[in-house]
Amino acid sequence: MIEIELARVYGFCPGVRRAVEMVEEHLRERGPLATLGAIVHNARVVDRLASRGAQGVRSLDEVATSAVAITAHGAGPNVVEEIHRRGLGLVDTTCPIVKRAQEEVHRLSEGGFTVLIYGEATHPEVQGLLAWAGGNGHATLVPSDSPLARAGRLAIVSQTTKEREAFWEFVQAVVGRERGALRELQVVDTTCPETGRRYQAAQDLARQVEAIFVVGSRNSANTRRLAEVVRATGVRTHFIESEDEIHPEWLTGLSRVGVTAGASTPDEAVQAVIARLRGPRGEP
Ligand code: SF4
Repeated sequence: MIEIELARVYGFCPGVRRAVEMVEEHLRERGPLATLGAIVHNARVVDRLASRGAQGVRSLDEVATSAVAITAHGAGPNVVEEIHRRGLGLVDTTCPIVKRAQEEVHRLSEGGFTVLIYGEATHPEVQGLLAWAGGNGHATLVPSDSPLARAGRLAIVSQTTKEREAFWEFVQAVVGRERGALRELQVVDTTCPETGRRYQAAQDLARQVEAIFVVGSRNSANTRRLAEVVRATGVRTHFIESEDEIHPEWLTGLSRVGVTAGASTPDEAVQAVIARLRGPRGEP
């Protein structure tokens, strides 16, 4: 039988677990609700919640229930205001770590800083942070794309799921570029330690096994990045959404494999992969 090692840290982070539990509690005690975007980037969880009455919507115009949930990624103050204006109940599952980033961005913007966010401008969390910056924000992953700070006052924060080291490299590059024009600089490290903990645990696991299965949705940015980090160690890496994608021949000749999962992957998906791996050479 093949030996299976689980990463020390894997799967749902506290923020996503909390968001799913809050939605489940509302479904149980108050009935159906809409979720503004996917509550978690995982089809298995979204389908399960949808079957119980949590309908994913892209905008408030599509909401057909009396309550709406903001996801763990958070949203701008404009969205919260609009939810109240429409008389909808609000289930705010914004992760406390994202909430802190929003508060920092708001404080810095109110304090007269140009707020530069190290992150993907189209990501829902970053869209929310930009809204909290109230027009004084700019998001990019490319240091040369940073805006000139208004009156030489620049603040830099990060999308929470970015790697800490990458964030500080970005800060250094921006400061090197803007040094001549800067009068005041504030840097707030708003990266989330959960992401780094998963990467580190996966890298440690890679040293102990012959192949690693990374479980999670392909539309989950954090799981895609986790797979990249694992692949970069040189260990054979299989990025799968479910146990059905495992080819039995992948296991030929292996005696020890590892399993890890992104922050949006539920335990049941990981357990299903382990059960399949424990089967006769990965056969269903
Ligand atoms: S990765 Fe971190 S910031 Fe994002 S939801 Fe999870 S705990 Fe919160």
